[in-house]
Amino acid sequence: MSNVDYKVEVLVGLEIHVQLCTRTKMFCGCELAFGTEPNSRVCPVCLGMPGSLPVMNKQAVEFSILAGLALNCQIPSFTKWDRKGYYYPDLPKNYQISQYDLPLALNGYIEIPTDNGLKKIRIRRAHLEEDAGKNLHTAGNFSQVDLNRAGTPLLEIVTEPDMSSAIEVRTLAEELQRIVRYLGISEADMQKGHMRFEPNVNLVITRAGQQFKTPIVEVKNLNSFRALENSIDYEIGRQLDRFLETGETMEMGNKSTRGWDDAKEVTVLQREKEEAHDYRYFPDPDLVPVRVNEQWLNEIKSRLRELPSKKRLRYVKEYGLSDYDAGVLTNDRTVADFFEEAVKAGSEPKRACNLLTQIGLKLANARGCAITELGPKAADIAQLAQMTQTGEISATAANTILEEMVKTGKAPRELAEQLNLIQKNDAGELEGIVDEVLKSNPQAAADFKEGGKKSGKARGFLLGQVMQKTKGRANPKIAAEILDKKLA
Ligand SMILES: [Zn+2]
Repeated sequence: MSNVDYKVEVLVGLEIHVQLCTRTKMFCGCELAFGTEPNSRVCPVCLGMPGSLPVMNKQAVEFSILAGLALNCQIPSFTKWDRKGYYYPDLPKNYQISQYDLPLALNGYIEIPTDNGLKKIRIRRAHLEEDAGKNLHTAGNFSQVDLNRAGTPLLEIVTEPDMSSAIEVRTLAEELQRIVRYLGISEADMQKGHMRFEPNVNLVITRAGQQFKTPIVEVKNLNSFRALENSIDYEIGRQLDRFLETGETMEMGNKSTRGWDDAKEVTVLQREKEEAHDYRYFPDPDLVPVRVNEQWLNEIKSRLRELPSKKRLRYVKEYGLSDYDAGVLTNDRTVADFFEEAVKAGSEPKRACNLLTQIGLKLANARGCAITELGPKAADIAQLAQMTQTGEISATAANTILEEMVKTGKAPRELAEQLNLIQKNDAGELEGIVDEVLKSNPQAAADFKEGGKKSGKARGFLLGQVMQKTKGRANPKIAAEILDKKLA
């Protein structure tokens, strides 16, 4: 069947679990830790011992409200904790503390850049819950459980099905990663499972004036942007093929869940004909409800900072940077702050941007550290940038000097002198050199004077000779001016 016969619209909603970087767990005093000895961060509360009582982690609630505010959500003044039935060994209480009907944040939106400008994706809700531990099946013919992760605060964010391609979903997920990092509420390290995604995918197919919806598929537990994007692309193709083959459409109860096989790059059926789960939610009698009064809310609001998308637009407007440059600089808050500090210290924005994006980020990546940990301060970057602004050194020399600054910890001017990179800006001195070059290259000088085809080439050659004679240290702009004047 050809594509002309039908039209396909893709609908994707996303659930995102974000692990918050509080010091301790959601309802007990155990420290959050990654990669420590199994079951070394546990206590009677997160082990679900009878008689132990949970105590709410206030910082986790504040982090969640901060995220809600950043996602333009309403923050209700009253929320509560609910128990959700959960009978697996990785959460020994036999229930998970979550939020059912009264989440901490609801009805917000996030804007993502698309080819057709900014697109608003609605956020249905964001609620706080505790994570489960990990079942390990690596010990031969029995299973083990590590409860270090049990009780870790998780923020679950749920969007409406407003995304219409895999790339839009990926863009949203990446934007969300930037936002939580900017807010300082999560490290959002994918490798450590700090962000996990579950997209809901289905299609609306229009054929012969009739609309058909394919059954919704939820892809479970994706922990990389790549898996997120690829699994959705795969589902789009699979659902379309299946519809064309069987004509099956969405009905009550034919929603299914699938897993992602990273090696084979396919989704695999996990559960079919999923009924509405009865989790037997009920308010947790051990925890008091959360009342968010205006004073507390305002205090949290005051901690909101400029978010990456706003910053990106401002960099383009205020500093005249390209979309691309603005994107690279604002990707990481540390880099953006460092850049702005350099600009405040007197660097032209574009020069600081070039130094940081062409050299700084490369060196930081190679060393696996933050740009602020490389050594040079923002004021040093500004000084280096100013030296290129005044023509004291060339842009290429500035890059070399920055690399040396990182290696040696020396100041820009000291290195420029030591490496003989100060440009010859002295017009008198350069004039003498230009004269010498003209004298020893009479043919090129004549070609240049004559004009026409050969002229441009001859000019380039003569300038090259001047640069060679000065070992690349002639200020090319001044050298060219002198040359043009002499041969005019
Ligand atoms: Zn504990």
